[in-house]
Amino acid sequence: MIAPIENFWQRPGLLFCALLMLVHFASVKLTFFCAVTPDNVVVVWLPNAVLLAALLRFRGQRMLLLAAVTFGSDVLASVGAFSWQEAVPLSAVNVFEVLVTYALLRRSGASLRLQRLEDLVKFVLAGPVTGALLASLMAAFVLQHVAGATTSYLTLVRLWWFGDALGLLIYTPLLLTLTQRAQQHMHLTWLDKALLTTLVLITASFATHHYDGNLDEITVTPTLLLPGAAIIAFRFGVRSTAVFVALVSLSMTMMMTSGFKPFGDMPIQLEVLRAQEFIFTLSLIGVGFSVLVKEMQLRELELEARVRLRTQELELSNRQLATISATDGLTGIPNRRQFDKTLTTEWGRARRNGQQLMLAMIDVDWFKQYNDHYGHQAGDEVLRRVASELTSLVRRSGDFVARYGGEEFAIILQSTSEEHAAAFAEMLCREIAQLRLPHNMSPLKHLTVSVGVAVLRPDGQTSITGFLRAADTALYRAKQRGRNRVELATEVMS
Ligand code: GH3
Ligand code: MG
Ligand code: MG
Repeated sequence: MIAPIENFWQRPGLLFCALLMLVHFASVKLTFFCAVTPDNVVVVWLPNAVLLAALLRFRGQRMLLLAAVTFGSDVLASVGAFSWQEAVPLSAVNVFEVLVTYALLRRSGASLRLQRLEDLVKFVLAGPVTGALLASLMAAFVLQHVAGATTSYLTLVRLWWFGDALGLLIYTPLLLTLTQRAQQHMHLTWLDKALLTTLVLITASFATHHYDGNLDEITVTPTLLLPGAAIIAFRFGVRSTAVFVALVSLSMTMMMTSGFKPFGDMPIQLEVLRAQEFIFTLSLIGVGFSVLVKEMQLRELELEARVRLRTQELELSNRQLATISATDGLTGIPNRRQFDKTLTTEWGRARRNGQQLMLAMIDVDWFKQYNDHYGHQAGDEVLRRVASELTSLVRRSGDFVARYGGEEFAIILQSTSEEHAAAFAEMLCREIAQLRLPHNMSPLKHLTVSVGVAVLRPDGQTSITGFLRAADTALYRAKQRGRNRVELATEVMS
């Protein structure tokens, strides 16, 4: 069954296999076309990177199927250059090289997308260094014993090794980045444009110049392109660098294999070596540098994300701290500090808006005796009960209840007339008494509270301290007059 198009990059289906075969076949042909010297030396062998990139892209899914597809393509594309008897074992060696590289990369724990410098180093060690070398040891044997090559074994090993190593080095990152999601759009500055123009001029200059031994002529060598690769890596990212490296490498091998002499006049064997050295350096500098830049960008993003997370955590714990510092530990209602703040705010608002404001101070009666008789723990529990009862009685938004300290509570009600304030305080007193919390040491045998109330008039001029003192005095009077009662401040709150 052909995989649906949206699954194309999720799992290698038949459609992908067809594409793989096509790209692999084209890569073999491209290699034969532009990277093989007239005496059959392969400067760069690209096709093995096709299977390797596919395995890395799909994390080894359907490995055998992909290997079989590329093996078939390799044999088909090589027949002509080789006989069937030579093509089959040599293609098998190619597939072996890729599988060994992939296995080593996985074992090394490298991320298969090659986005970090460490992964790139592991890739170079697994593929170009180890995989290609092992394959070349086998290929040289096949070339000598099946194809009847007369070149020495070690020379064959070297030629195969370097060609394969460079192919993996140039082409794997290229195929990987081309199959990844498009990177962010790049904004070109005038400096970028100037650099690109210079690079194009240098490339054109070396690509069109045919060295003819005339020392009077100014000649440029490909070495000048190395800083270019570094600049592209720095400014344009991994993908552009991989494309640049591949294009320069291929055009150079093509020039060389078609008789141009980019490195000057020298024997072809030496020229191949020079070209391979150059491609090796170019791809290591270019791709390595671009991966390094990418890694630094990724690290910066990670750092930013971590800082954002820490800031959020800090904000949360600041909010929690603010809540804790405004809350009474025993009863869970606002504490004295919060009360002072709220009273200041509400007092200011009432003065500005010409509204009335009520302040009630509530004190539990005979509480010392309660503690002495029932114990401190029971005393705490009673304070919690009283706090929760008061909270449930204060329902209007903007009204406020707090623990003032010890067994004293305070309530602030906005826009409240004296009549309403008195009625509200009476209701509080009644409701607490009706809880019927046993208190054997009190004359009524249950827990009661006394309330002192002060009301700030609309045109009131009283200070906050005066306002508080008035409520406190009223409370004192309530105690004096027998407790379990409400007293209104007699002072004129104006
Ligand atoms: P009055 O009716 O005149 O208000 O008498 P009282 O005994 O309630 O008042 P007094 O000020 O003599 O005693 C208050 C007691 O409240 C003394 C103190 O031990 C107790 N108390 C203060 N804070 C706490 C607390 O957090 N937990 C407990 N269990 N007791 C507390
Ligand atoms: Mg008290
Ligand atoms: Mg008391």
